[in-house]
Amino acid sequence: MGSIVRVAIIGAGPAGSLAAIFLSDYAKRKRKTFEITLYEGKDFKKKGQCNCNLCAGVISNNLHQELNDIGIDMTKTIQCKVAGYRLYLGCESILLSKNDPNIFTVNRAKGPVDASAHSFDQLLLDEALRRKDVSLKRRYVSSLHHDQGWSLSCGGKEYRHDLVIVATGVNSPILKQLERTGYKRPDTLWTRLVELKEDVLHPDTRRDEIHVLPVQNMKDVDYAILIPKKRHLTLNLVGKKGALQIGMSDVWKVMVMMSERGLFRHDLKKDSILCSCSPMTSVSAAKNPISDGLIMLGDAGVSRYLKNGLLIALLSARQASRTIVDYGISKKELKRGYLRFYRRLASDMSYGRFLFWCFEKMKNRPAILKKPKKEILDMLWDLHTGNLSYKEIFFSMIRPKIFWKIFFG
Ligand SMILES: Cc1cc2nc3c(=O)[nH]c(=O)nc-3n(C[C@H](O)[C@H](O)[C@H](O)COP(=O)(O)OP(=O)(O)OC[C@H]3O[C@@H](n4cnc5c(N)ncnc54)[C@H](O)[C@@H]3O)c2cc1C
Repeated sequence: MGSIVRVAIIGAGPAGSLAAIFLSDYAKRKRKTFEITLYEGKDFKKKGQCNCNLCAGVISNNLHQELNDIGIDMTKTIQCKVAGYRLYLGCESILLSKNDPNIFTVNRAKGPVDASAHSFDQLLLDEALRRKDVSLKRRYVSSLHHDQGWSLSCGGKEYRHDLVIVATGVNSPILKQLERTGYKRPDTLWTRLVELKEDVLHPDTRRDEIHVLPVQNMKDVDYAILIPKKRHLTLNLVGKKGALQIGMSDVWKVMVMMSERGLFRHDLKKDSILCSCSPMTSVSAAKNPISDGLIMLGDAGVSRYLKNGLLIALLSARQASRTIVDYGISKKELKRGYLRFYRRLASDMSYGRFLFWCFEKMKNRPAILKKPKKEILDMLWDLHTGNLSYKEIFFSMIRPKIFWKIFFG
């Protein structure tokens, strides 16, 4: 590495901003000099869907703890403190909770209703920009190519960098250009996010719980999750494998189902929908996430199957930053410090897919919630909170009794 390493981070979502924070701090500790430029097209301080990072905004206990440990106080961004996950199967429902879990909800950007709300992504970006060696170009990168270092096109200008960290999430068109390096984007599922006025809620529905409804008898939708925010609600629909984009007619069907289930009022109105978007979520790890002077972070690399992607964005940003500072930026050096960690997360994705397949089987067994065994409750709790890795959950439940209960009990 030369004396000053010019680093471009494409995308100032959680993975990008946290990479800037960790890289700057580790470099200082090791007396190395980095010049870090974040490229971001959105303005999280502005209202409107085009500035929003498409996510339900649930902050897990572990992520909250990790942020505290690095001195990031997210208090002002908190929308709600969550008491637990209420799971609905058939006509049964159960509250999954452990005493006083630190689970919170946030708006990734401004959110649809409250002009005074603080954005979670802006909090992380501000924290990164407090460091002297980090700067921001508020523009989308339109192309990048490698020729003795990396050249990025942005706002009609070219910028040269020694290292590019790609933290664009999985929905960015720029990922296609990286296929030249052997990179292959993760597999994805369609999701839909719908922001709703709070008046849709039935007065008896708890406002401090996340409501999880596995959906039956719909072609394209697998799960509906209702997340409380301070002055509105977020409805997150998760699509089936191989299904098409989830349309608004499906959203309405789910809302009617929730109304029949007693969660929403009976006199539902379509104008309760404030806004809606349809992002993809990654369900596998990318292939070849590392090249000379190039590393893929967050959802563009590897995430966590359907849960807690924000925590993985933090963990991968930290591991990549350590690697860059301790080893270097060539393909060999990046692989040396990052690949083992990456493979562990990638294999956890497979455990996650298996566990959600088991959970899918429970859809037809609402009786499982009648007198649930402690092991089943623990498994469901860990599955929904993301407190443990999927591998740990898998090994905690490989007992014949539990499998029998899930599949036949
Ligand atoms: C519907 C849905 C709900 C989710 N809910 C949760 C949840 O409740 N909790 C949780 O932990 N995880 C959740 N996730 C997962 C979580 O959103 C991701 O894991 C996380 O956002 C990944 O962070 P990231 O920084 O890698 O990518 P992103 O958050 O996608 O950020 C990427 C950033 O890069 C920018 N960008 C893209 N292309 C360019 C470019 N060419 N130039 C400049 N900038 C660019 C974008 O504008 C964006 O700001 C959810 C995902 C989905 C799809």
